[in-house]
Amino acid sequence: MTRRPHHRRPQRPKTVLHGRIRDRADCFRCVGCRLDVPLDAPGTAHRNHCPHCLASLHVDHRVPGDRASACRGRMEALGLCARDDGEWMIIHECLSCGELGTNRAAGDDNPLVLVRLALRPLRDTRRAAHVLATL
Ligand SMILES: [Zn+2]
Ligand SMILES: [Zn+2]
Repeated sequence: MTRRPHHRRPQRPKTVLHGRIRDRADCFRCVGCRLDVPLDAPGTAHRNHCPHCLASLHVDHRVPGDRASACRGRMEALGLCARDDGEWMIIHECLSCGELGTNRAAGDDNPLVLVRLALRPLRDTRRAAHVLATL
């Protein structure tokens, strides 16, 4: 009796299926409040923070949406600022590496949280100076 030394391994369609589901996902789980957040955001092409608690993940490096950062730390809203064209920007600080980033506020961001953020003074002046230097 002769047998071929190698035998065909069966395909694993499950793995492929998982990958496809992840690609099609149109929402993400918030790192702050565990809310399932849809990626579609009114007023922005790319949602990158939770409309409920404004938490975000450190995935972008320089340009919002470039997803070039490998940090993936949790970013918390530090403050609000308005651009010259009247657009509201949320300043995020990464809790893992301390990097700061700005993200455009979305049309359905919780207005109460935004106002509370806008009224909160930056008590740490060294940090405020650091924020201003990066804007
Ligand atoms: Zn949240
Ligand atoms: Zn980071």
